[in-house]
Amino acid sequence: MMLTDYIIPQTQIAAIIEEAGGDLQIRKDHPVKSPEELAPGECLVKLDCSGACHSDLHAAIGDWPVPPRLPLIGGHEGVGIVVAIGKNTVESPVKLGDRVGIKWIANSCLNCEQCRKGREQNCVKALCSGYTVDGTFQEYVVSYVNYVTPIPEGLPSDAAASILCAGVTVYRALKSSQTSAGDWIVIPGAGGGLGHLAVQYARIRGLRVIAIDTGAEKKNLCLKLGAEKWIDFKENKDIVKEVREVTDGLGAHSVLVTASSSEGYEQAIEYLRPGGILMCNGLPGSATLSASVFFTVFKSITICGSYVGNRQDALEAIDIAARGLVKVHFVNRPLADLKDVYNGMMNGTIVGRVVLDMSKK
Ligand SMILES: [Zn+2]
Ligand SMILES: [Zn+2]
Repeated sequence: MMLTDYIIPQTQIAAIIEEAGGDLQIRKDHPVKSPEELAPGECLVKLDCSGACHSDLHAAIGDWPVPPRLPLIGGHEGVGIVVAIGKNTVESPVKLGDRVGIKWIANSCLNCEQCRKGREQNCVKALCSGYTVDGTFQEYVVSYVNYVTPIPEGLPSDAAASILCAGVTVYRALKSSQTSAGDWIVIPGAGGGLGHLAVQYARIRGLRVIAIDTGAEKKNLCLKLGAEKWIDFKENKDIVKEVREVTDGLGAHSVLVTASSSEGYEQAIEYLRPGGILMCNGLPGSATLSASVFFTVFKSITICGSYVGNRQDALEAIDIAARGLVKVHFVNRPLADLKDVYNGMMNGTIVGRVVLDMSKK
């Protein structure tokens, strides 16, 4: 099945990595999978745009413990139109012409214990967009009808893109953070891609946000988004003392670490109050978490990992954005700028998110 008045080209522009740590190449002649070749359950999505996530940089460098497939087309925050669906697909929840999102988890088996328990992201058969299958740094991506996320009318594609990874990831982590309205939450990395969305989703839950990051631009963004307290980790020498002071000497109820380095984790045990919960959410390649066992026990601290989210988390996070309650702070750039975007990520200079616009050449 394909859109009748739409001609699918045979080649397209794609950003490809041939080897780990190798050069990123922008190719203009990369083949598009033809609608006839789509397997049942597969669909072809013509992308409007794709967000660029820190995980894409890790895939390009190859510094995660699990290696990506190579050659690789990265990207997992894509939004576009379904232009073809594999023949013999039954009961597809999406139809031709629908606007949908592609997130990190591209597909899972739906039948294993993890899938049945709603942890599709932990399915051993899960396919990861832009890591184990080709992702959204191309004009046409193959995805799966049961896994794409419908995008509500009225939410522009570029505004929706980064909700699909960054938004879903922090939204799910906040759901798991055992916090109640009025609780204090510390967000290291608050001015970055995950962090600035975490500030907003935390505010919707009625949480009081202490934002940690550095630089005037990130400070302004965090305070504008509703953080009550800003701590610049380069200027403030004693973060533990600062957090304790703001929280009446007791410490924060929760910390959601969105920073992509180990530093954000180091002092968390010290500035959490007893019964506090440390949510690990960023995915640094080789960082380890060191915590005082004595104080983890003595203060009844919970250390908890949260990895992206399932299809339901994606729908909920997108719905909140569609209602205008959370907004991605982003700039549009052409796909050809991807290498430069990676440099910005490595230097920590990107405020919010970059969304690659496929119509910009
Ligand atoms: Zn991501
Ligand atoms: Zn499964």
